[in-house]
Amino acid sequence: MKRYYDVVVIGSGFGGSITAYRLAEAQKKAGKEVSVCVLERGKRYHMGEFPRDLSKPKDWWWRNGGRGGWKGLMEFRSFDNISVLVGSGVGGTSLLYLDIQIDAFKSTFDIKGPEGQRRWPSAIRGRSPEDPEGNGLENMLPYYQRVFDMLRPSPIPDPPLKTVALKAAADGGGAPDRFRLLDLAIYWGKDGSEKGVLNEDPYGRGGPPQIGCAYCGECFIGCNTHSKNTLDLNYLWFAAKAGADIYSQHRVVKIEQNPDDHPVHPKGYTVHYEDLRWNFAGTVSAKILIVSAGSLGSTELLLRCKHGYRIGRKKVVPTLPNLSDMLGRYFSGNGDFGAVGFEINRTVNPMIGPTITATVDYRDRLDGHGFIVEDGGFPDMLRAHLRRTSGGYASGRRWLRALKGIFNRGGSDRLVEGIFNQLLKQMDFDAVRDNLPYLVMGIDAADGEMSIDEEGNLEIDWSHRHSMPLFRDIEKTLREMTEPPRPGLDGNLMLNPTWSAQKHLITVHPLGGCPMGDDDAKGVVDANGQAFNYPNLYVVDGSIVPSALGPNPSKTIGALAERISEKIIEKGI
Ligand SMILES: Cc1cc2nc3c(=O)[nH]c(=O)nc-3n(C[C@H](O)[C@H](O)[C@H](O)COP(=O)(O)OP(=O)(O)OC[C@H]3O[C@@H](n4cnc5c(N)ncnc54)[C@H](O)[C@@H]3O)c2cc1C
Repeated sequence: MKRYYDVVVIGSGFGGSITAYRLAEAQKKAGKEVSVCVLERGKRYHMGEFPRDLSKPKDWWWRNGGRGGWKGLMEFRSFDNISVLVGSGVGGTSLLYLDIQIDAFKSTFDIKGPEGQRRWPSAIRGRSPEDPEGNGLENMLPYYQRVFDMLRPSPIPDPPLKTVALKAAADGGGAPDRFRLLDLAIYWGKDGSEKGVLNEDPYGRGGPPQIGCAYCGECFIGCNTHSKNTLDLNYLWFAAKAGADIYSQHRVVKIEQNPDDHPVHPKGYTVHYEDLRWNFAGTVSAKILIVSAGSLGSTELLLRCKHGYRIGRKKVVPTLPNLSDMLGRYFSGNGDFGAVGFEINRTVNPMIGPTITATVDYRDRLDGHGFIVEDGGFPDMLRAHLRRTSGGYASGRRWLRALKGIFNRGGSDRLVEGIFNQLLKQMDFDAVRDNLPYLVMGIDAADGEMSIDEEGNLEIDWSHRHSMPLFRDIEKTLREMTEPPRPGLDGNLMLNPTWSAQKHLITVHPLGGCPMGDDDAKGVVDANGQAFNYPNLYVVDGSIVPSALGPNPSKTIGALAERISEKIIEKGI
């Protein structure tokens, strides 16, 4: 690795990949030497390399900062009232994501938090400084289009049985017009006519080979056929082609601002990293630093830099003490809420097809701050694993126990114990083919707060209190969609057992922590992603989103990254 780069990017999810590509491409187009470097803590996964052996938890889980060999694909972190699942690898959480590309609700950008404050900066939500509201979605449309053009999402060509079941649920719930197929960032193999067939360059733009989606249902454990348009197959691929250097297994631990007399980057930033493959520490200096380690990763790193912490007896002093006191605020789980319709009157086969295919859209509820319901699924490889255990499908309980073991080894013992004991009690896994999982998300209050303890460990103080109207409406709606006397499904509804047991939610959509705002009393970064009090330090990922978004967030995070990249390029790299 070189010692100095014009741009260093920390993390390779939606924020990191997009800025890396746009800035590298801009340098290349301007005829400059491309000087962009990406530092990603996780591994790189080539086609067919995602883990599938359930007996090797270190391949699956990221734990202990990657030490002791826990450098796996997923990180599950449990806090008092909420748990969070994120990804780790080149491509970030896109390696786990379920491909949905959808704009935020129009109402999102004018949201006021429970504290009474408009959350989004006026430059994003308004028409002009004199007219600072009501135009957020229109302002974001050109940037959404750029993400769309790169990820090429489109609806599933042959909807499977679970999509049909969700439509029946919508009909049964008296909401047939609310049902629609979603845009999925998946290569369908020439519109479905070439399922399972390798195409050398499916989009004809010099990208990598991909295999047409064969509906295996393994989206969230890493797509081994590269049918999913994950970021390593587009933005990062083209960033590398433009000349950016991408380093996997490089975990950033500290950021310092350079002194005025720094020989190359006065007032730039020095990034301290650990090379997890060869086990050594290093530094790299940047003129422009982009922090894109995700809501949890970026906020934790910056909280450590702002406040300092202890390792044993050693004190690590604060290095960025003037970051805004808003750091850690406005955490949201994006209203994520899971449930299952079970013993329903039809075969669903939730293992077949991409994990999500369609939605029943209730965004107009709660004064335009509503929610959407999506179908879910389970990876088919788990069913295959089940088949191999003696007793076949009838050993569903054994299968769940195996899963429980894995989650436990992921580091969240008490909570997981509660969840799985409930599941084991309530669910007959022989009947898994008649289950329709629901994945719901909406506008919660986004009033959680992240902080660190003395040793620098992240904590999240989150409560459902201000979000209860949303969760009550979701539960009522799911019952209407699922339970008798409705003709659509005629089954039973089981809510996420962690919610029923302990009012504990699990989110895959963490947002906030380094919110955007009009000034440093309202946010950590401005509308262009630049940190207040630290020129050329940008935060670009889900952490800058200052409210819940409602639907799945990656397209909006991507659009914000496109917008911020444009502003950085206009300023000059
Ligand atoms: C199972 C699942 C399904 C999902 N499905 C969808 C979906 O269908 N549609 C949708 O819109 N969204 C979906 N999401 C959410 C979506 O993936 C995230 O919102 C999005 O990836 C967030 O982008 P980001 O840039 O904020 O962070 P991430 O994508 O999380 O990227 C952050 C990166 O930073 C790295 N990192 C962290 N700390 C460090 C460090 N100290 N040093 C170096 N690197 C670091 C991480 O390893 C990671 O690669 C899903 C998420 C999950 C878990």
